[in-house]
Amino acid sequence: MADSPPTLDSLIVWRSDANTEAYEKARVDRVFNQRRPKRFPIAVVEAIHESHVVDAVRLAIERNCRVSVRSGGHSWAAWSVRDDAILIDLGKLQEISLDEKTGIVKVSPSTTGRMLNGFLSEKGLMFAGGHCPDVGVGGFLLQGGMGWNCKNWGWACENVVAIDVVTGDGRLLHCDANQNSELLWAARGAGPGFPAIVTRFYIQTRRCYSHMRSSAYTYQKSEYHKAMNWILGITAEYDDDTEIVVVGSYPPGSPDICITVLLVTFKNSEEEARKALQEAEDSHPPGTVNKWFCNPTSLKQEYEDQAAANPSGYRYCADNAYISNDADVAETLQAAFTTLPHRKSFTLWYSMAPVSRRKLPDMALSMQTDHYFALYTIWEDEKDDERCQNWVRDIMKDVETRSEGAYLGDSDFQTRRTRFWGEEEGKKLMRLRRDWDPLARICGYLDVGDKSGLNGLENVHEWQVVAKI
Ligand SMILES: Cc1cc2nc3c(=O)[nH]c(=O)nc-3n(C[C@H](O)[C@H](O)[C@H](O)COP(=O)(O)OP(=O)(O)OC[C@H]3O[C@@H](n4cnc5c(N)ncnc54)[C@H](O)[C@@H]3O)c2cc1C
Repeated sequence: MADSPPTLDSLIVWRSDANTEAYEKARVDRVFNQRRPKRFPIAVVEAIHESHVVDAVRLAIERNCRVSVRSGGHSWAAWSVRDDAILIDLGKLQEISLDEKTGIVKVSPSTTGRMLNGFLSEKGLMFAGGHCPDVGVGGFLLQGGMGWNCKNWGWACENVVAIDVVTGDGRLLHCDANQNSELLWAARGAGPGFPAIVTRFYIQTRRCYSHMRSSAYTYQKSEYHKAMNWILGITAEYDDDTEIVVVGSYPPGSPDICITVLLVTFKNSEEEARKALQEAEDSHPPGTVNKWFCNPTSLKQEYEDQAAANPSGYRYCADNAYISNDADVAETLQAAFTTLPHRKSFTLWYSMAPVSRRKLPDMALSMQTDHYFALYTIWEDEKDDERCQNWVRDIMKDVETRSEGAYLGDSDFQTRRTRFWGEEEGKKLMRLRRDWDPLARICGYLDVGDKSGLNGLENVHEWQVVAKI
């Protein structure tokens, strides 16, 4: 006979009972950002079985409090940590299994991209998940998921074929195209306002590639316009299996900021990879301070590079925007790329075309342009908090006027209002939230003072709101 799961009581850390160390560990140990929130749940449940999620929601109903959810703990703004809520931490709820016939993998939300691809690679498959190895699929997929080669292969959430959820009134439901399909619609782009708790994702995988290769072209920041305008000119028509990114950063040992154009291609032979990368090699402007062409790489290697660029144990502040297709992109982003406030910080432009020109499937995710831009401000010392956060605020104040909106995944609703969905999709999402969680049991979007509750987000630009006042 299978062992029955431990009782909920044995998995709860109550703020009122636990010693400070145990409570703090449960509250924030699994939060990636060291800029710890001053918010305090009444309890943390470390669920190891789906039934614990149901029990935790029922407990919240009894206590008349909210629940918050943590999967991988990588939300920049630590959305899982909420005042007076029961935090359901899914870190110990672990499941991965593959249906070899369909290529659909069932995973628990705290599974990381690295864990999932480690499992799939042995079977010749991959999932185009987040670039950083330790992001949980839970938060990542709910926001849409800008995964590997998103510009061509599309949003990671497009591969979610079903989910299992626990609703705000404690029901366990399966959701797919035929049953509870509204929740599947919302799960593909609602982000932290999803009106239920996902306990399992069913994801369509793709075959893996035997020859991953990369090329890079690094320029001094004085060559920023030259480098940026070059890549902007070739990106939309570029090879289908190649992702393209421009990074502004301080490379190791460099006294100044440099601009690096990086191309990563997913192919099945060296010849195909060379062919894909040749166009950039032939057309890149002269004057590189460093470059490589068609170097072998792998998901493992790329994960290591990403982990090094986003080290754990640091303080972070991220923000982002989809720059309008008709904007002068290089001009709009110049200050962001050339004035970083800290050596560890970096700025990124990520090509989204041609996917951005394609009609998206019917799902909550509905905001995109050809140009994704994000700031990842990283520092170690609390004394730099204000300076680094002000830099982000000042850059975004200017950039947002030439943007269509932003991506939930790199946003903080406490610092800036903007548009996250198309007009109709935003309205539908807020209606579904009211229908599926009418008592706002699940915490939802963390805005200033955590007040948004059932209303959700306005889905308007900051300056539109400010102009009305
Ligand atoms: C270093 C780093 C690299 C990143 N790289 C990428 C990238 O390449 N592409 C990209 O798209 N994003 C990226 N992100 C953003 C990332 O996808 C989001 O921060 C995402 O929220 C992280 O998911 P998580 O499960 O780890 O986070 P968590 O903090 O655990 O979850 C965030 C919130 O999502 C909701 N949520 C999570 N799980 C569930 C669930 N099971 N049921 C209901 N609601 C849930 C909750 O509101 C929760 O508070 C990156 C973030 C970091 C820190």
